[in-house]
Amino acid sequence: MAEKFDCLVIGSGPGGYAASIRCAQRGASVAVIEKEFIGGTCLNCGCIPSKALLASVHTLLLTKHAVLMGVDVSLATPNWPKIQTRKDTIVTAFRKGLTGLIQSHNIKMVQGRAVVTAPNKIRIETDNSPTEIQADNIILATGSEPIQIPAIPFDGRTVISSKEALALEQIPESMVIVGGGAIGCELACVYAAAGTKVTIVEALSRLIPMEDEWVGRLIEREFKTLDIDALTSRKVDSVDTTAGMAKVVLEDGQAINAEKALVSVGRRPVVDKETIEALNLEMSGTAIKVNEKMQTNVPGVYAIGDAVGTTFLAHGAFAEAEVAAVNATGGDEKMADYSLIPRAVYTFPEIASVGKTEQACKNEGLDVSVGKSFFKANGRSVAHNETVGQIRVVKDNSTNKIIGVTMVGAMATELIAAARLLLGRTEEIIDISFPHPTVSEVLKEAAEDAFALSLHNPPKA
Ligand SMILES: Cc1cc2nc3c(=O)[nH]c(=O)nc-3n(C[C@H](O)[C@H](O)[C@H](O)COP(=O)(O)OP(=O)(O)OC[C@H]3O[C@@H](n4cnc5c(N)ncnc54)[C@H](O)[C@@H]3O)c2cc1C
Repeated sequence: MAEKFDCLVIGSGPGGYAASIRCAQRGASVAVIEKEFIGGTCLNCGCIPSKALLASVHTLLLTKHAVLMGVDVSLATPNWPKIQTRKDTIVTAFRKGLTGLIQSHNIKMVQGRAVVTAPNKIRIETDNSPTEIQADNIILATGSEPIQIPAIPFDGRTVISSKEALALEQIPESMVIVGGGAIGCELACVYAAAGTKVTIVEALSRLIPMEDEWVGRLIEREFKTLDIDALTSRKVDSVDTTAGMAKVVLEDGQAINAEKALVSVGRRPVVDKETIEALNLEMSGTAIKVNEKMQTNVPGVYAIGDAVGTTFLAHGAFAEAEVAAVNATGGDEKMADYSLIPRAVYTFPEIASVGKTEQACKNEGLDVSVGKSFFKANGRSVAHNETVGQIRVVKDNSTNKIIGVTMVGAMATELIAAARLLLGRTEEIIDISFPHPTVSEVLKEAAEDAFALSLHNPPKA
């Protein structure tokens, strides 16, 4: 007799593990099936390893600026094997922690590939013979994979994806990064800071094209200080790897030779073909189609995270997991406005935004005021020699409420959580006390400026 659960979750990334824990907390019997490593892309080849590498090279950059802080240090150099080992140790520790957490909730964790064969039936392919599990509800959290450009196929050695880029055994002398989005720009920072000559090729007119134009321009300017070349409005035509190097040829004929070509042009949802066919799942391109309750077209089957192609963010997957888990266990919840999910890029300097961008407001024809504040005018930022960047706060003049915040600067990815809490607020923000001196005052100042109430900005014309 097949083992039976109230809820079965396929995939143990941020979406899958969060959904399984929430289902268990709500009293359901739960199993989670994982074909590779617990923690999914985020823990094993995404958020965590990339931030570990960024933190190491950031320390290196800090030592380079130490003399400006009045500290004499001898020349600092990256010890790449140690940096990689540190990253792997962090990942392994979190895998162990997550395994313990799942067990502590009495969730059954099964290693194997899950294939849904009927609305309540799941086949699990393991090293041994396949087993069958039954479940009243299924949550698909199968994640995504890097998009491959047909003219530049991955070979895993010279033409690589972010997965291999996070685990290179040596610092390459040179790297061409195809794609100037979040992942491409973060990895550009890792390798440029470590000493690689990095060139980014971006088809659109600026880096980080999903954010407002000033963000991309500012980042491009700052990347020059890391000796990163950004070729925008340029497309790659082909890559020749026959000489053991990557000869990246652009559409205008320019050729760039590099030790590695990292293709980072986005990710696409991954869903098992057999599962799609067995359930007759309705798809939207390669993504599973869901409604705001994260329900698919099949009753009792939910889908979340990268597999539904909404945010491609770990915390987006968390939010969807919460909704799916509540609905799969008898509740009734809907996904809130997706624009309220903060966006964060951990470049040097960092980028973060939440709510509406200025461009989105313009497209919608909204009457807005934009408050600004600059890190170079902030006492703590100057003390830390982190003076690059600014924060912009967008206020809807028809409601007098804050509707968007975009920031570039040190600790922006931390400050954005506070910015999220400012959304929907009015002039009352001037009554909220922020500690002095802190970097967070840049946020308060920009918010006050949106109401023409800034203490430290000159009066608006
Ligand atoms: C380099 C990089 C950096 C990133 N940095 C950030 C960041 O800083 N912040 C952020 O929010 N996001 C970041 N992301 C994105 C983030 O990793 C993803 O959005 C997140 O992991 C999606 O979670 P998920 O649960 O939907 O899918 P995944 O994390 O991809 O997990 C899916 C899991 O399902 C398993 N699976 C698939 N099919 C089956 C099957 N048939 N049977 C069993 N198991 C299966 C897979 O093995 C995988 O473990 C980054 C991504 C990359 C690549």
